[in-house]
Amino acid sequence: LPLEFQKARIILEKIRNAGFEAYFVGGSVRDTLLGLPLHDVDIATSAYPAEVKQIFKKTVDTGIEHGTVTVLDHGDGYEVTTFRTESTYQDYRRPDSVEFVRSLEDDLKRRDLTINALALSLDGEVIDLFGGLEDLKKGLIKAVGNPNERYHEDALRMMRTVRFASQLDFEIEATTLKAVAENAYLLEKIAVERINVEWTKLLLGKNPKKGITGFIETQLFAYCPMFKTMDQVFKKIPSLEQLHFNNEVTAWTLVCYLSLDNHKQVSKLLKAWKCSNELIANVQNCFSALALLKIGQIDAWNLYTIGLPSFEMANYVADMLGFPRDMTTIQDSYKALPIKNKKELAINGGNLIKDLQFTPGPLLGKTLNTIEKKVVSGELRNELSLLEIAARKIQND
Ligand code: ATP
Ligand code: MG
Repeated sequence: LPLEFQKARIILEKIRNAGFEAYFVGGSVRDTLLGLPLHDVDIATSAYPAEVKQIFKKTVDTGIEHGTVTVLDHGDGYEVTTFRTESTYQDYRRPDSVEFVRSLEDDLKRRDLTINALALSLDGEVIDLFGGLEDLKKGLIKAVGNPNERYHEDALRMMRTVRFASQLDFEIEATTLKAVAENAYLLEKIAVERINVEWTKLLLGKNPKKGITGFIETQLFAYCPMFKTMDQVFKKIPSLEQLHFNNEVTAWTLVCYLSLDNHKQVSKLLKAWKCSNELIANVQNCFSALALLKIGQIDAWNLYTIGLPSFEMANYVADMLGFPRDMTTIQDSYKALPIKNKKELAINGGNLIKDLQFTPGPLLGKTLNTIEKKVVSGELRNELSLLEIAARKIQND
């Protein structure tokens, strides 16, 4: 068993010694069986939350309303969740109520995919009630139970289906795929932030082309923010020979590049997807850098304002698009920039006000901007006395 499971054994043992059942469940079991690294270990138990809290000295109620208690042990936290069923879904997104149960089978039944519905006992036995082991071997993404009902209960599962196809490079089983196509419109009921999480994992997966193909075929894309009118992207992506992303920025930049013309549209799309301001700024920069790489005319000011990291990321995307380009020259030109940011300028507003009696205001700002441009382009040397002379001249013009 992987180290993560070894360390968590004690938690399962304590629950078992108190007279309850406990298993490893979910993604960690799937990933272990696939030989993939684990990020978190989920534990499911027949003990009710109050009972779990009695067994352990230190616990935190991280999600007690859905039965999750975090058990703290030697500085590590373990999420322990009571077996539960989810009854009557009326809004296609969350169950009206969660009911705690004592049966593992009932708990596994409510899970989304067969490969996610495996449990692992302390003795190393895999409990496989829905053929998950075989699907893992075959590389199949298949819904647990009746796929139509399952997607109707919770529409986010459709995004999870295509996400896992990409992440694991698995095929989506035929009836499951058909059910996603039939229920795709229900995705509109799901909060954008939650769709975004799955979409990002899909893009960063092992075989994004596979995930995106499912996303297109089933029409899921048409129920995502602004994607309906961006169908050119989804026509172009499958024809790109190699598709793989190293981070969110390069992934979104490619999507934007294939369908949008400018900065403003990039920000509008990513805002609709509720992306963070930091991500939006990074994608806009990478998008600009990519456009410049394509035309091959990059001046010092471009390098200075966009920055080398954005060019490096744009270079990654340009590789997929097959743009000819010369990164070594770009790196050398960047290194040769006289300053890398405004702070390195030998002059600032304070100097101008104190030494040259400039008055604060827009004119001062404009003068500094002009000087910054001239220093970056090499027209002016970055020395205080020279820049003061230049400032006086600009103001007198
Ligand atoms: P990841 O590696 O991304 O964490 P995961 O399978 O562990 O993948 P989680 O979101 O952490 O995904 O969920 C843990 C488990 O809970 C899943 O393996 C699955 O059994 C179940 N699950 C999660 N979301 C749903 C859902 N929307 N419907 C049904 N079961 C779900
Ligand atoms: Mg998980």
